[in-house]
Amino acid sequence: MKYIDEYRNKDLAKRILKEIKAISVKNISLMEVCGGHTTAIHKFGIPSLLPDTIKLLSGPGCPVCVSSKRFIDQSIAYSRLKDVIITTYGDLIRVPGSTSSLRQEIGTGADIRIVFSILDALTIAKDNPDKKVVFIGIGFETTAPSSAAGIINAAKEKIENFYLYSSHKIMPPPMKALIDEGVKINGYIAPGHVSTITGSGIYSDISEKYGLSCVISGFEPLDLLQSIYMLVKQIEDGTPKVEIQYSRAVKPQGNRKALAMMDEVFDLRDDWWRGLGILKDSGLTLKDKYSSFDAEKMIQVDVEETADDKGCICGEILKGLKSPKDCKLFDTVCTPTNPVGACMVSHEGACHAHYRYSRNG
Ligand code: SF4
Repeated sequence: MKYIDEYRNKDLAKRILKEIKAISVKNISLMEVCGGHTTAIHKFGIPSLLPDTIKLLSGPGCPVCVSSKRFIDQSIAYSRLKDVIITTYGDLIRVPGSTSSLRQEIGTGADIRIVFSILDALTIAKDNPDKKVVFIGIGFETTAPSSAAGIINAAKEKIENFYLYSSHKIMPPPMKALIDEGVKINGYIAPGHVSTITGSGIYSDISEKYGLSCVISGFEPLDLLQSIYMLVKQIEDGTPKVEIQYSRAVKPQGNRKALAMMDEVFDLRDDWWRGLGILKDSGLTLKDKYSSFDAEKMIQVDVEETADDKGCICGEILKGLKSPKDCKLFDTVCTPTNPVGACMVSHEGACHAHYRYSRNG
């Protein structure tokens, strides 16, 4: 209860909202680039509390949503190999590929196991020495350190039948790409979980070179309202900078141990983002010294031709150009139980969050 009192206090929320409403600047667009923020913003009804002059946009912050259909198709191709066990986090198995999904492949006999961490996948590899165990690694700097730790452990324990198929990506290349593309954004609600690992320095270019405000936010209603106030105040004062609202978890220097593990295991590579295409140095691949654990290098598969997204506008939603309710398939053909696109699959996806919390609003 103390926690709820501290971060959900109604009187405090009203006071912050009064300050937000007193800001004189009009037509402000703020974008969140964290799936956890997308969910929290809609769950707590934050958009309905704000004046019409402040618009909240959902950006490319949900890892499942930004990954390519080709990545899903290749995961499915691995799962069809008789000597492979696929291990992955839950959301991913429901993402539609071109003609199937990992969940559908389970129905045809593929050995696909949901795990809570890469360490569970290592245990499966040790228990099944006659199989190749592929861990599908997805997520930003939040989950990349645990994948790195898994690879370090696999190397130490000389586990020879374990592989990572990496779709790990990093911030802030997509944040910069959106500004370069001319999307109207006045400030970023910067990701809380990513920043606990990276610290705040990764956003300095965004304020110094691009002149945009960045506030690293927590996930409770008062965190979000305070972050929005900090952003609009910066915008009114004309002083774009990086600030940490989520100071109980984020330190300017980040988590050095986690960063060192990422640095030990991964190199940067150009990577594909839904809606944005290929962005330079935005993805993580295993360094050459760990290439024996790299599924892409060690396991050959034929991957089917990627099919078009029929009617799905996830790409435009992830750029803040459209809202889920602009999609003709939203809440008709496309629902969480029958997702057409990745943004409806993950709990962190904008379409899923709109469906769950504000489809009737
Ligand atoms: S509602 Fe479904 S089909 Fe439409 S954009 Fe969202 S995920 Fe794609």
